[in-house]
Amino acid sequence: MQSQEVEVLIIGAGPAGIAAALQLKRAGFDPFIVEKDRIGGALLNAGWVENYPGFARGISGLDLAKLFQEHLEELDIQVQHAHADDLHRMDDHFIASINNKEVIARTVIVAAGTTPNQLDIHGVEDLSGKKVFTELRNLPESLAGTACIIGGGDAAFDYALSLAWRKMDVIIAMRSASPCCLRILDERVLSMSDIKRIYNAEPVAITREKSQVVVNFRGGTPSPICADLVLCAVGRHPELAFLSPELKNKPEIPQFHFIGDVVNGSCRQVGIAVGDGLRCAMEITQFLQENNQ
Ligand SMILES: Cc1cc2nc3c(=O)[nH]c(=O)nc-3n(C[C@H](O)[C@H](O)[C@H](O)COP(=O)(O)OP(=O)(O)OC[C@H]3O[C@@H](n4cnc5c(N)ncnc54)[C@H](O)[C@@H]3O)c2cc1C
Repeated sequence: MQSQEVEVLIIGAGPAGIAAALQLKRAGFDPFIVEKDRIGGALLNAGWVENYPGFARGISGLDLAKLFQEHLEELDIQVQHAHADDLHRMDDHFIASINNKEVIARTVIVAAGTTPNQLDIHGVEDLSGKKVFTELRNLPESLAGTACIIGGGDAAFDYALSLAWRKMDVIIAMRSASPCCLRILDERVLSMSDIKRIYNAEPVAITREKSQVVVNFRGGTPSPICADLVLCAVGRHPELAFLSPELKNKPEIPQFHFIGDVVNGSCRQVGIAVGDGLRCAMEITQFLQENNQ
């Protein structure tokens, strides 16, 4: 296997990894940043971002991600499109398998974000990626008909608005007796006539019926919902699968950092991820300058 030595390896080109890369480049380093999907990460799911400073009227997640990407390009930072795997520590270095190559890094920034939880009910596995989805960014480009969104939090309500703006009829089905989202999202959804919501609805199975799917609920209430697609927003968990058991335990060493959503629990916001990225890049800069060989 070929190998390559790098000073800083950044895993993930979402807001956190991008901010870290920009700051490191300004400090004179050439970070090796790797992304397994599209640049922008979870931001590509966000309908309308209203809490990122500088955008008083808000900006779509897609457009903000595009600006971040342009910033990378402006500073000539190349993102490697590949999956980082099997990251482990070897003495005072870290080794990851990337594109059939061994990347040996002096310092590592894990900015891998979160992965959506799967709904563990009958039918989901077979229909996943065809009729049942967990991320807005993975939906087909042309959409029509009815979407059933499962979940009652911020993401579910944000998805409902995004799909209604894309001319779909939307039904939000939530297990709880009331929404668990920001009031502003709740009010916005209430004002949209093409978004309906049902409470106390616990899905138990999703089945295919011709070109549609049918979502069935526990105890038969509410009645089954027919939809053209189902979008599940039932929580997210940190993306740690590619780390060795030692690194999953988040050892506190100056050469190894977790930043952004992967480590921020329920405080998952773009501004926090960006701030994490800048701070960590400055700490790594200091470490590398003090330990220059
Ligand atoms: C529906 C929705 C709406 C939102 N709305 C808002 C909002 O209005 N305001 C706000 O501030 N925030 C919002 N957010 C949250 C915001 O998008 C996240 O906080 C932010 O994207 C986190 O950035 P991150 O870089 O930490 O992680 P992510 O954006 O998740 O990026 C992580 C990246 O790492 C990559 N990756 C993971 N593992 C590997 C690997 N092994 N190899 C290579 N690449 C890897 C992933 O593909 C991903 O691109 C929203 C999120 C969602 C889902």
